[in-house]
Amino acid sequence: MSDFSAEFSRDLRSAGVVGAGGAGFPSYVKAQGRAGYALVNAAECEPLLKKDQKILEYFPAKVFDGLELLMRAVGAEKGMLCIKKKHEKIIPRLEEIAKSRKNITVLKMGDYYPAGDEQCLVYEATGRIVPPGGIPLDVGCVVSNVETLYNAAFRGVPVTEKFITIAGAVKKPATFKVPVGITWAEAVELAGGFTVKEPAYIDGGPMMGKVATDFSAPVTKASAGIIVLPKNHPLIVKKALGRPVFSRINRSACDQCSFCTEFCPRYLLGHNVQPHRVMRSQLFSAGPEHKLHSQYALLCCECSLCSLYSCPEGLNPREACVAAKSDLRELKMGFKNSGLNKGGAPKAHPVREFRKVPVSKLVQRLGLTDYSKDAPWTEVNYKPSKVRILMSQHIGSPCAPAVKEGQRVQKGAVVGDVPADKLGCPVHASIAGTVTKVNEKYVEIQAD
Ligand code: SF4
Ligand code: SF4
Repeated sequence: MSDFSAEFSRDLRSAGVVGAGGAGFPSYVKAQGRAGYALVNAAECEPLLKKDQKILEYFPAKVFDGLELLMRAVGAEKGMLCIKKKHEKIIPRLEEIAKSRKNITVLKMGDYYPAGDEQCLVYEATGRIVPPGGIPLDVGCVVSNVETLYNAAFRGVPVTEKFITIAGAVKKPATFKVPVGITWAEAVELAGGFTVKEPAYIDGGPMMGKVATDFSAPVTKASAGIIVLPKNHPLIVKKALGRPVFSRINRSACDQCSFCTEFCPRYLLGHNVQPHRVMRSQLFSAGPEHKLHSQYALLCCECSLCSLYSCPEGLNPREACVAAKSDLRELKMGFKNSGLNKGGAPKAHPVREFRKVPVSKLVQRLGLTDYSKDAPWTEVNYKPSKVRILMSQHIGSPCAPAVKEGQRVQKGAVVGDVPADKLGCPVHASIAGTVTKVNEKYVEIQAD
């Protein structure tokens, strides 16, 4: 690792920079690798979410600054901002900035789902396929989210604010920046309030996000936004089904047509993911056949395309894959020690190009046409009276509280941290005030 990589990765860790597109992977780890390409994932293909587009519209230079730092840290010769060509309003400005920077270009992609899947993005940008069970670094690429690079550009300044989109059944769908730790209820108020009596929400995009009803939950550093919907919206109902129910329905109705597999983006990249065979395994009780077929879930990226678009029966192959992976984890089986790991380089399916699913069709299928509108950038300058800083806002070990009840903290003070030898990074106070509650899950701060 070069001196600059070490210094930049220290800055990222101390500032608590994590993947801001939902994953929350600690960014300092990526800065320690070596890669020829540094890619900005600006695909933002989850319907209704707009925060990355708005960052690129209003703060583009910062994202390019972050990209240049990442390129220097990993030794990348090429930087590429990968965005859908439908964003024609902002692309000329992005191209102008790219031209003024060294070795950075803008890649314009089609409007399909999941263009933002890290491995699909790597293939679109470089023609390289990440090996099964591998990561982009294995093919000389490092991929970073728009907001993550925006945060990285501030070199060591703690991440205390978050860009989020509030969309769906709210009066004024909007994108804004708020202190980490405010509640979703406060964020919905900033978007004009609910338009339905019994709301629920999807935390993250409608495809990969999780259904929730507790609007008192806090915004985290990894939050991308929420989609508010009526509790009885079919998408909420389907995503909320528990394992016993979807397993029973899956078992009784799957006709093994294999559409789920034929449209699977990872299968189309040449990875051996076959959700229809995972569905078949649900017909067997746990035993050798069950385990054999379940292995076809191991490379599933949980994009939900099979469950929310491909399956003509409206079944839930994605959940079958998630459940199979969890069962296999208990048996200590991952892809590397599975029977499917036979080596050999994967090849993209010859019809991959023709099986890309347009986001417009997806929006119709999800029943979100009425909610599909802009969420304009809005300056809110919100000053909360209280925030709740979660100790687990990233992949890896959760933080342990680093403050005591009654203690005064300034904005940006470390309130939780992870031992240096563990994967993770600190969390910071997003407002100045007094610590009123501390436990292993969160630190609460009352504003001055
Ligand atoms: S698409 Fe649906 S019905 Fe067809 S194999 Fe997959 S889960 Fe079964
Ligand atoms: S969720 Fe379905 S479509 Fe997506 S990767 Fe997994 S099996 Fe494939």
